[in-house]
Amino acid sequence: MAQVSLKNVSKVFPGGVTAVDDVSFDVENKEFVVLVGPSGCGKSTTLRLVAGLETTTAGEIVIGNRKVNSIPPKDRDIAMVFQNYALYPHMTVYENMAFGLQLKKYPKEEIDSRVKEAAAILGVEQLLKRRPSELSGGQRQRVAVGRVIVRKPMVFLFDEPLSNLDAKLRVMMRTEIHRLHIKLQATMIYVTHDQTEAMTLGDRIVVMKDGIIHQIDTPTNVYNRPVNKFVASFIGAPPMNFMEGRIIKKEDKLYFDEGHFRVRIVEDMYDALLDRVDTRVTMGVRSEDIHDKLFVSEAPPENIVTMVCEVVEYLGSEVYLHLNTGKHILIARVSGDADSQINQDIDVVFDMSKIHFFDKATEKTII
Ligand code: ATP
Repeated sequence: MAQVSLKNVSKVFPGGVTAVDDVSFDVENKEFVVLVGPSGCGKSTTLRLVAGLETTTAGEIVIGNRKVNSIPPKDRDIAMVFQNYALYPHMTVYENMAFGLQLKKYPKEEIDSRVKEAAAILGVEQLLKRRPSELSGGQRQRVAVGRVIVRKPMVFLFDEPLSNLDAKLRVMMRTEIHRLHIKLQATMIYVTHDQTEAMTLGDRIVVMKDGIIHQIDTPTNVYNRPVNKFVASFIGAPPMNFMEGRIIKKEDKLYFDEGHFRVRIVEDMYDALLDRVDTRVTMGVRSEDIHDKLFVSEAPPENIVTMVCEVVEYLGSEVYLHLNTGKHILIARVSGDADSQINQDIDVVFDMSKIHFFDKATEKTII
């Protein structure tokens, strides 16, 4: 049975903003589900509805086997970690972690053992006597997580817990949260606008925009099989490249004609594309599926395209090339060994087996 279920949940704020629009998904026991999407997509409101910090306008929320719509947050058996830590400044780390259990009248020994256990899991044992003002951002965030762990809730909720940390610390804490999930074997729902966090942490990802769920799937499937152009562009860095053009048929073969170049479509895709012949579509290609021809043995001549290299970004092991087709700018992620120069022509090869096609009007995936 799912640990958390949202069934046709909507939230309309006074004033008429529909923040969450008929959202349904299940989170299984011990699963790590990430809600991801651009600012304003409704992910935080969805989490706050699960926590009971907002009331639903419509729909049902079930935690464990209880419908919780009218149960107050403190009785939902959930615990939430916020972006701004929300630690009590006048209390020590120990007191911050113990406070929730004291309110619930846990015995002193039980509180002590839980706080010490959580402190050990998070590596903050030596900080227990300090106050929040004496901690770094990363340490504060650990304490905020510790305060939640001691309660041993049925479900952990995280609302952008790492966004106040600098880039390096964010990556470190991301790994720690991953470890924590493995160690605690707990059900977790995590909200972020950062697609890398979503991809690296989630067993499954819920991709949202404008209060609506666009796709729920594993990170691999969301990346490789996006259901529409929005998901394809939101998940992945750099984002997927898009080009508008026409499907054409010549001597039983299908091609994508961009205007300035033409590439041959692999036969596996013919079934999905035959009824699109002579119509305009959007072709999507990920940056790692555009290769410098110099590094491709036996490149099919019909898939070699000459473009102008306008920008070269060196990242060490790899290089981002910004290529101008004459009509579109594409980013190719090529090996750091490539020696591409600005304003020079470069021959690239598309891996046509990895190409995506989207309907131009609906933006839904064709294949
Ligand atoms: P962010 O990443 O910027 O926090 P989000 O995806 O978490 O965004 P929400 O905070 O859930 O988005 O907000 C969704 C929509 O609901 C937004 O348009 C927001 O302005 C609106 N909204 C959120 N809280 C309220 C509120 N208390 N009253 C009115 N509108 C609200």
